[in-house]
Amino acid sequence: MSALNIPESNLKRVVVIGGGFGGLKILNQISSKYYQVVLIDKNNYHNFQPLLYQVATSGLEPDSIAYPLRKILWKKSEFYFRNTKALKIDSENKRLVTEAGPINYDFLIIATGSKTNYFGNKVIEEKSMALKSVTDALNLRSLILENCEASLLTSDLEERERLMNYVVVGGGPTGVELSGALAELKKHVLPKDYPDLDLRRMNVHLVEATDTLLGTMDPKAGEKAKEYLTKMGVNVWLNTKVENFDGSTVKTNNKELPSKTLVWAAGVSGNLIDGLDSKSIERGRVLVDQYNRVEGYDEIYCIGDVCLMKSDENPNGDPMVAQTAIQQGGLLAKNLNSLAKGKEMTPFSYSDKGSMATIGRNKAVAEVGKFFFDGILAWLVWMFVHLMALVGFRNRVVALINWTQNYITYDKGIRLIIRPFKNREKD
Ligand SMILES: Cc1cc2nc3c(=O)[nH]c(=O)nc-3n(C[C@H](O)[C@H](O)[C@H](O)COP(=O)(O)OP(=O)(O)OC[C@H]3O[C@@H](n4cnc5c(N)ncnc54)[C@H](O)[C@@H]3O)c2cc1C
Repeated sequence: MSALNIPESNLKRVVVIGGGFGGLKILNQISSKYYQVVLIDKNNYHNFQPLLYQVATSGLEPDSIAYPLRKILWKKSEFYFRNTKALKIDSENKRLVTEAGPINYDFLIIATGSKTNYFGNKVIEEKSMALKSVTDALNLRSLILENCEASLLTSDLEERERLMNYVVVGGGPTGVELSGALAELKKHVLPKDYPDLDLRRMNVHLVEATDTLLGTMDPKAGEKAKEYLTKMGVNVWLNTKVENFDGSTVKTNNKELPSKTLVWAAGVSGNLIDGLDSKSIERGRVLVDQYNRVEGYDEIYCIGDVCLMKSDENPNGDPMVAQTAIQQGGLLAKNLNSLAKGKEMTPFSYSDKGSMATIGRNKAVAEVGKFFFDGILAWLVWMFVHLMALVGFRNRVVALINWTQNYITYDKGIRLIIRPFKNREKD
């Protein structure tokens, strides 16, 4: 037995850090004929991040979007999972240092995804809510319910307003989807639970620094999303930059918004692991060549959000979305299989399968190739795509039942403060 109690094997060892979209694809495609594979993840589950906002707004339970990593490895020989955090790469000794001890590798694959980027604003980092992990989503869900309860307990009208207002920063898909879900909570769900609370005083603000929402999509998507959100009662502030937040008021470059809850969805940067040369890092991400090999290292690869694959035609790399991680993971696994067989590796090129965002009931925008569509058709496509992408049959069935029930009853079933946010650590 070696470190982390992994048996020694005659096969070369591939250590994968991260069981996200990219890491899972590696596990699916790499052959145990050639490699012993060790997955390291700080969580024991795969997190389906696109639906975190539904957990935060009581639409889905976390176990509908999270899936146990051990279950993915059932019946796979030569595959091992260790639930620990990767700390540092010791490339000279081909060793990864983890919280539970070091492990040797023949090939190392970094698939650690991204983390919330506060652009150096420590105050906002400390006082705002993020939406990147299941813990973040559960914290936000508890806080929303605690805010409603606290609003009923105070007779200070200004305090009540601050408790009931939400400021979401970042007009990308996460910000748009969360603002829409908050507006639906206000309209359909909270009035039933809190009949003695004047919910007309609840405001949802979506703040975006540029002049458009959904900036990475067709401009029509941003316009339509703005139209939908405005009709749903969300205040959309474009060309507006959040500058500070003291826990009670959000200060922007052109207005002040009274609110105790600021949700930061304005950017991400790579979740880096220490030990790589600074020349291999650019804009907070790991530079890789077209085979996802980290620049300057022969045995270290990097896929998904954490890597940056630049080319002359594409200086900013591919988009930080699930498809990039899945496609890179799939190709890298095949390339490592080819390497073991003495065959040539294939360079990566991203195939854009389209993008979409949902704003609310029967309202979504979708862009597939040259086609743009919105409304109920886009919403149905969005639901189908997300349902099929969830990991595990049970999760798909439970999510479908929840969505159907929510749709028919205009209700969201899960409004328990089992795990209050106050005094809890942020992830
Ligand atoms: C709220 C939200 C909504 C999104 N919506 C969409 C969407 O609609 N469509 C879309 O395509 N993309 C969406 N994305 C982006 C998408 O989720 C990411 O692009 C994708 O998850 C990247 O996959 P990945 O494999 O690189 O990393 P991830 O899926 O993030 O996986 C990283 C894994 O690494 C583990 N890890 C990290 N650090 C360590 C460490 N030090 N040690 C051990 N384990 C570690 C983590 O626990 C995690 O399991 C969304 C993201 C968020 C946050």
